[in-house]
Amino acid sequence: MMAQQGILIVLSGPSGTGKGTICQELLRSYPNLHYSISATTRSPRFGEANGVNYWFTSKEEFRTMISEDQLLEWAEVYGNYYGTPRRYVDQILADGEDVVLEIDTQGAIKIKEKFPQGVFIYIVPPSLGELAKRIYKRATDTPENIERRLGCATAEMNQVYSYNYVVVNDEVPAAVAKIKAIIEAEKCSVARS
Ligand code: 5GP
Repeated sequence: MMAQQGILIVLSGPSGTGKGTICQELLRSYPNLHYSISATTRSPRFGEANGVNYWFTSKEEFRTMISEDQLLEWAEVYGNYYGTPRRYVDQILADGEDVVLEIDTQGAIKIKEKFPQGVFIYIVPPSLGELAKRIYKRATDTPENIERRLGCATAEMNQVYSYNYVVVNDEVPAAVAKIKAIIEAEKCSVARS
């Protein structure tokens, strides 16, 4: 049997659905799972560090990455640019390890064209009301930004059909358990052997 290539997992969902927390739990559970650190032109939030949460870059640096084809995909989200550095993802997969990308729907659609074997998971909050509460509770955004994010969240919900799986994040442990089951099933998939 040929050596198995790593699995590329894409996690998306409206802002505030808890995908960050879920992702952290998954990374703790799977030592062979690596987080793709995106490049972004947005400013760091309190507690975020360069090279941990994102590669924080200027617009000019970001444009250079695009022109040098360093990004697997990139998109404009809430007025800022976000992109997935190509080299890291390619390296992890070539080593037979797994990688998770926490990106928006525009990015997920582009990645699906390049990696149709990827596992695309959309995380949704139990209700939009719950989502609004979570965003307000986080209180790191201005009211205008919050309204914009909620508007985008509603539109983005219609995009779930581009994904393979939808997981409702009612309780983090239950959502993580479901995603682990998805990953385990994918690892057993005959299509990957
Ligand atoms: P935030 O500013 O809240 O960290 O992220 C805003 C949105 O951008 C989220 O939906 C997040 O998943 C998405 N995002 C983060 N990194 C990337 C990326 O590399 N590419 C794309 N297309 N979206 C990203």
